[in-house]
Amino acid sequence: MATVYLHKQNLFDNLNKISKINPNILAVIKDNAYGHGIISFSKMLKDYGIKKVCVKNNNEAEIVRNYFEEIIIFFPDTKRSALNFSYCINSLKQLKKNRHPYIHLKIDTGMHRNGILPEEIDEVMEIIKNKNYELRGVFSHFCCADEISNDLFIQYERFKDVKKRIETFCKKNEMKFPYFHLANSYALDKLPDTFDYVRPGIAIYGGIEGYKPVMELRADVLSNRILKKGWGCGYNKTFISNKDIEITTVDVGYGDGLPYFKNGCRLKYTEAIGKISMDSMIVKGDFDKEVVVFDDVKEFVKNFDTITYDILVKISPRIKRIIKE
Ligand SMILES: *Cc1c(COP(=O)(O)O)cnc(C)c1O
Repeated sequence: MATVYLHKQNLFDNLNKISKINPNILAVIKDNAYGHGIISFSKMLKDYGIKKVCVKNNNEAEIVRNYFEEIIIFFPDTKRSALNFSYCINSLKQLKKNRHPYIHLKIDTGMHRNGILPEEIDEVMEIIKNKNYELRGVFSHFCCADEISNDLFIQYERFKDVKKRIETFCKKNEMKFPYFHLANSYALDKLPDTFDYVRPGIAIYGGIEGYKPVMELRADVLSNRILKKGWGCGYNKTFISNKDIEITTVDVGYGDGLPYFKNGCRLKYTEAIGKISMDSMIVKGDFDKEVVVFDDVKEFVKNFDTITYDILVKISPRIKRIIKE
């Protein structure tokens, strides 16, 4: 068996750090809370005092509906649903089909993936007014916040301009002002102004520098043996020992969501050798009970040509989650 431990104090430290930038946090818990386990994670967020979260779809929103005041759904259904669900509008076409009255408008300020174009705003605001929708929020997303580039400030300026136009429209039509949110994790410390709310994901989980890792993955020991000099182990024997060594087989593999590897990988206190199997892998050393696979994804990711998000999000939901107070 493998177990995911969730370090609550690290999560709280990350939230405290973000709160110093802006205490109004929309915690992004899409995709099973970046693989951490959406229910366990929501319990911890609620304990901290988080009131609003962002999820991927209605399915995830239903799971956490009793934990939060507002649940923002990035890719919602069209049909009407709960009062505390807010639907993100990603296009004019979607708005026309939508039947849920509580919405957040996504603005395409330059990523060109989703969102209403700035030139569509007047038409969109008319529709919202005529349908009597409650516009709860307006937001946009950065394409390049993890690097130093002009894009960040171009998008920031466009968003400021959009905010002015929407507020003018609301004032003129006696509509309630929505709240504005823009900053993802990488943008938290890069903007002159973070608007009403910030919208971090990976920083909360400690998947970027400056934040503490929440997830630790451990695997139980399955068996131990001596690998004799000249013997290989695992599929295709890609590891051949040049001396007699103690090895331990542990209960976690790519079937549990770990990335596939053919030639070993660095773990917290030891290393895996050879090819990873579906439900096990072989590590150097004689371990008795369990082996820590990683307790900081920022270190573990260095084994692979990918990003921390990708490692975390794929950790199987079948693995048990335990909150470490
Ligand atoms: C995933 C996502 C976020 C969070 O991004 P991080 O890089 O994890 O901070 C914020 N906003 C939107 C629209 C997203 O899709």
